[in-house]
Amino acid sequence: MKAFAYVNPTTEKEAVGALGTDKTKVMPLAGGQDLLARMKDYLDQPDRIVNVKNALDSTIAATPDGGLKIGAAVKIVDLAEHAQVAKLYPAMVHAAGEVGTPQIRNQGTVGGNINQRPRCWYFRNEEFVCFKKGGNTCFAPAGENQFHAIFGNGPTHIVHPSSLAVPAVAYGAKFRLVGPNGERIVDAAQYFTMPTMQNVRYENVLAADELFTHVILPPPGDVKHGHYEVRYKASHDWPIAFATVILAMNGNRVGSARVVMGAVAPVPWRAQAAEQALAGKTIDEQTAAQAAEAALTGARPMSQNGYKVQVAKTAVKRAILQAAGIKTV
Ligand SMILES: Cc1cc2nc3c(=O)[nH]c(=O)nc-3n(C[C@H](O)[C@H](O)[C@H](O)COP(=O)(O)OP(=O)(O)OC[C@H]3O[C@@H](n4cnc5c(N)ncnc54)[C@H](O)[C@@H]3O)c2cc1C
Repeated sequence: MKAFAYVNPTTEKEAVGALGTDKTKVMPLAGGQDLLARMKDYLDQPDRIVNVKNALDSTIAATPDGGLKIGAAVKIVDLAEHAQVAKLYPAMVHAAGEVGTPQIRNQGTVGGNINQRPRCWYFRNEEFVCFKKGGNTCFAPAGENQFHAIFGNGPTHIVHPSSLAVPAVAYGAKFRLVGPNGERIVDAAQYFTMPTMQNVRYENVLAADELFTHVILPPPGDVKHGHYEVRYKASHDWPIAFATVILAMNGNRVGSARVVMGAVAPVPWRAQAAEQALAGKTIDEQTAAQAAEAALTGARPMSQNGYKVQVAKTAVKRAILQAAGIKTV
């Protein structure tokens, strides 16, 4: 591993001051589970790393409007076990509780989880110089693409790796970012970027001289929540596909719905067709299946990941039924 400088700031301001203008040279370090692995695998060789664990907020606090503000340095385990988050945003707790393993949840932070880099095996192998590493191709379409995106049209075909990002988008969260000129608040849905040739190396709008500091959840209102993840293994793995569903009911009919899928696209993928299919309906097996069908309209699987279409449909359908309190298998 290349030698690097280590900075250990104790305030947000000091931490921002220690960043630079080149994301490849200075990197924030939280739990380190992604960053240190990338350094050991020679994907990243920063000159300086900035430990943000002592500088950023590690608390979960109520906001004046009845929502919650989650600090970037909060550990995933503390999110998963937080009573107020469980009461107001159960899909968030569900997602946090299924991340990786107990060890990963003990070490990983909310900020690190949301900002972790893709798990694409071509990106993670130093021998493959793909778009994300300054190369001129994505190896997935002609290669091993069983875990890649089924939505989006390139130029890269990664799936976003964060489990917390999906309920954050479904709940209409905002993210607080801080840089040398102060803070900015960005909708979670706008934070993650679909790849273009201009932004292909990164997955979000965070600038090199900014830090991600908080997830701000608006008051949920009177809604029903569902979250369903499908994995090959029950633990120690990322989901193949998953979904968060939030239903605002009007009597026994859906007033409005938010349906967001994970592990199917380079960003948390909002399924507006499914939301429209649910509006005005009572929920049963049939309406849930129709909405799940709608959610996957427009999917463009590659040579080896067509199976993900059915897996994602099942995740959406079961998340809807769970939200409606209808038992699934
Ligand atoms: C076997 C295994 C299974 C896993 N399963 C899942 C899963 O199911 N779901 C899931 O979501 N994840 C999963 N993970 C990934 C794991 O949850 C993340 O690696 C972890 O959450 C990252 O958090 P960290 O605090 O260790 O981040 P770090 O490694 O410290 O940081 C991650 C990245 O974010 C940047 N960063 C960190 N904090 C900030 C900040 N405040 N502002 C700006 N940038 C920042 C860092 O520079 C780095 O690039 C799994 C990991 C393993 C090894």
